[in-house]
Amino acid sequence: MKYIDTHCHVYGHEYDADRNEVIKRAEGAGVGMILIGTNEATSKSALELAVLHDRMWAVVGCHPIDAVTEDGKPLPEQFNYDVMKGMAQHSKVVGIGECGLDYFHVDVGNAANVAVIEAQKQVFEMHIRLANEVGKPLVLHIRNGKRLEANAGVSASVLADAYADALVILKKMRAEGVIVGGVVHFFAGDLVCAQEFLDLGFYISFTGVITFAKQYHAVVAGISLHRILSETDAPYVTPVPYRGQRNEPVYVIEVAKEIAKIRGGDSSVVLEALVNNAKVLFNI
Ligand SMILES: [Zn+2]
Repeated sequence: MKYIDTHCHVYGHEYDADRNEVIKRAEGAGVGMILIGTNEATSKSALELAVLHDRMWAVVGCHPIDAVTEDGKPLPEQFNYDVMKGMAQHSKVVGIGECGLDYFHVDVGNAANVAVIEAQKQVFEMHIRLANEVGKPLVLHIRNGKRLEANAGVSASVLADAYADALVILKKMRAEGVIVGGVVHFFAGDLVCAQEFLDLGFYISFTGVITFAKQYHAVVAGISLHRILSETDAPYVTPVPYRGQRNEPVYVIEVAKEIAKIRGGDSSVVLEALVNNAKVLFNI
């Protein structure tokens, strides 16, 4: 395994016509894959595919957008603790997620949405307890509200800051004796924010966004090499030079090379670390 895509969704309908070719291209290039579930059904699909391939693993859980109804009620059928736990104990399941907080699709300024956010937090806590119970790392999806994302670096409504809220929950649960740790997928915070997650024992993962936007380069360059992961988040955010096409796991090579370029020095050391870090975190 020369590279690893720690976050992709190749079980999705986007790959129905050519899924085997997509997987073969990745395998042929020495790319390992971790398939991330977003609800009960896709978690099952991820696991079913992972058992068929040697260098493929699954993560099971419920995306914060999938975790609640429109009026903010947790969806028990989407995060049935016992069903998730049953899947989570499988040897091919290496983590719990993607889970967390997503304020991007929620108008956090609207009082009616307080219930949605509360429900997201509740479902997030259930994932943290599950990860703790089965002894597997968390895969976090944290996305700020639109107002904060539009004004990166400028303090906006505290309510829009999903990273800050996630840190509050993680610290609170750690204080209660719950073991927390894992990876912050698709990291979109600043260096100060990254450091807070690193201090809690998290890894930070970057997508193809870094191949076309410089916004996160300071974080890529500024954190410990032993805490960085590479991912595609395929089918989303295709890296340069494949912009405009569907993303796929083999393109993680571009992400890994960009991380090496940003950090400078011997690129083989960085590329090797990206694979080793994933092996350590996911115990693969
Ligand atoms: Zn994802």
